[in-house]
Amino acid sequence: MAISTEDDYDHLCKVVLVGDVSVGKTHLLSRYMKDDLPKAPAATIGVEFATKTLRLPSGVNVKAQIWDTAGQERYRAITRAHYRRAAGALVVYDVTRQETFRSLSMWVSEVREGASPDATIVLVGNKIDLVEQDPSARQVYHDVAAEFARQNRLLFMEASAVSGAHVKEAFDQLLQEVYAKSPKGDRNESDGPSSDKGAVTISPTNRGTKTSSGCEYCG
Ligand code: GDP
Ligand code: MG
Repeated sequence: MAISTEDDYDHLCKVVLVGDVSVGKTHLLSRYMKDDLPKAPAATIGVEFATKTLRLPSGVNVKAQIWDTAGQERYRAITRAHYRRAAGALVVYDVTRQETFRSLSMWVSEVREGASPDATIVLVGNKIDLVEQDPSARQVYHDVAAEFARQNRLLFMEASAVSGAHVKEAFDQLLQEVYAKSPKGDRNESDGPSSDKGAVTISPTNRGTKTSSGCEYCG
């Protein structure tokens, strides 16, 4: 899979990042976007998103708006706008902090209520590099998380924003699955009515529009 130019895309979708504060959401996003770690501390107010276009093996270009939180998760006060029309989510916990795993049911419910009951969710156990350095740092067993994922119909992987392990795989799988589940992804690439179910299909007239606010999703 390759990254295509920013304005050349067939399908637009919104996905969100959620999970307790400090699990590494912003670092994961930065690793995926730039293959680097954040240079400056993230802003502390508002919601921000980044966009990236992924070329699927079928040749379809999926442009993703990936919404990060900016500290509101500390107060469990993420706004409805964060979830609205999201087709998928990366739900993140920290493999070295059990309490971040206990919060997962709450995050999964928020995504399903705020976005869609059948939103695609990839569960990511982050900071696996710390466990590789010192196995006693692990507080969440792989098998326990895998079972939680199975029961809640989530895709699952352990990853590290610091080493880069499985970061691209996690985001790419999310975007591929979101596209596959969309009405457009179900069919061949013929023009159909745009979906109201989270993934937004871009018609030729507004194709390539630069989005600075994400308002096309605010419905
Ligand atoms: P957020 O609050 O979920 O956005 O978390 P941040 O991305 O701001 O990261 C919180 C802290 O965890 C920072 O000190 C990061 O350096 C650290 N961190 C994030 N990801 C990793 C990782 O994969 N491994 C390690 N060892 N530390 C990480
Ligand atoms: Mg953050």
